[in-house]
Amino acid sequence: MSLLKEELLDLVQKYNVPGPRYTSYPTAVQFSEAFEIAELEENFCRRKESENPLSLYIHIPFCFSLCWYCGCTKIITRDQNRGDVYLDYLEKEMALVSKTTHPLSTLKQIHFGGGTPTFLDPKQIRRLGKLIKRYFTLHKSAEFSVEIDPRRCSEEHIIALKQIGCNRASLGVQDTNEEVQKAIHRIQPFGETQKVTEQLRTHGINNINFDLIYGLPKQTPSSFEKTISDVVSLLPDRFAVYSYAHIPSIMPAQKLLNEADFPSTEEKLGMLVYAIETLPGFGYNYIGMDHFAKKTDELSTALTKGTLQRNFQGYSTHSELEMIALGMSSISQGPSLYCQNEKDLNQYYAKLDEGKLPVKKILRLTDEDIIRKTVIMHIMCRGEIIYNKLSEELGITFTEHFSGEIENLKQLEADGLLLLTPNGFKITSTGRLFLRNIAMIFDEYLTQSRHKTAYSKTV
Ligand code: SF4
Repeated sequence: MSLLKEELLDLVQKYNVPGPRYTSYPTAVQFSEAFEIAELEENFCRRKESENPLSLYIHIPFCFSLCWYCGCTKIITRDQNRGDVYLDYLEKEMALVSKTTHPLSTLKQIHFGGGTPTFLDPKQIRRLGKLIKRYFTLHKSAEFSVEIDPRRCSEEHIIALKQIGCNRASLGVQDTNEEVQKAIHRIQPFGETQKVTEQLRTHGINNINFDLIYGLPKQTPSSFEKTISDVVSLLPDRFAVYSYAHIPSIMPAQKLLNEADFPSTEEKLGMLVYAIETLPGFGYNYIGMDHFAKKTDELSTALTKGTLQRNFQGYSTHSELEMIALGMSSISQGPSLYCQNEKDLNQYYAKLDEGKLPVKKILRLTDEDIIRKTVIMHIMCRGEIIYNKLSEELGITFTEHFSGEIENLKQLEADGLLLLTPNGFKITSTGRLFLRNIAMIFDEYLTQSRHKTAYSKTV
């Protein structure tokens, strides 16, 4: 880092405010329950006419036990039979959704998220694989990834995942220190992570990501350094190093965490800076915000080529694809319409029992939303804005359209977060720690009060 730590801390004090993570723009806060079925149908007609490849996300909401830091939509249960019932309903949803796609559209990307996808037992995983093949056509080089909880993943799970076509795995690790694990109610001996990683490779699932979190209770700069050194020893292809988002008003389980055990802002920032400074020495590029990837990984290539994208799962090389999302609470993302399924499992089942799509909320993007979305995605994924290029792409005169925003950027330039030029701006290495704050300048919904409680802090 080029800045002295103290100067960086001053910046954190100034910019550490609640803000979106911009996995989408507009964000999920803008979704509305007031919509006409015709709006969905119009979107489906457009999709049905196009042979474009698609991305499929499937949400498996069940988990065996509650991690106290968790911000996901999940249901805690030990009843494995609930997986069978859930698959019955996923099948109903697939039958409805598959009618809205072109028969020649293929799935170029599949992702199982949760909750815990490996809550499903191997037989249930095979059944899910069969359902996908019955209702959709897999692209021959589809990227097929699954989120794995190493505490709930036997070798039989891995064999079943491989059989249905999985070729990438994302392992939840969070932290390898036992005291931290006790404080967050997630006991996961490092040997378990190591064993699952080896078994994945043995069975040909070679592309592996680890998720870590910094800012958890009982974490210290030295415990975090040890966590990084532990996970680096397993040579994953990618890391996601997320900032812990403490929003107990929205995630009540987080009230179980002892706030006195949280690291200070200075310690928390130190952990991120340590990851950014250390991981390149092990051959990883800093992709942006919270992602690192091996220099040979597709994310690194996309960053270099300027083709990196961002979607509800974070950074991606395939976000240009329309995403169909199935399962309770999942969010589908089309070019001009986002829709979210029922977040309540009974409601999700009830709509499907009535033969209806289980959509609860939608967001129709306006032309202005699409313009701002493009600018925000350029900030998050490219680290620079070139006015002429975006003016041409968006059919606007950038400097006129965003004259107020460009004026507001001057303060960020004075703080060293970016460099303004006559034809654009470039984000500095310090500014990469504050990408969300830079993007927020272009978010026209942020003045609305309901936003203020909905987001975690930006650093
Ligand atoms: S962190 Fe993952 S495994 Fe833990 S409760 Fe949340 S979704 Fe379940």
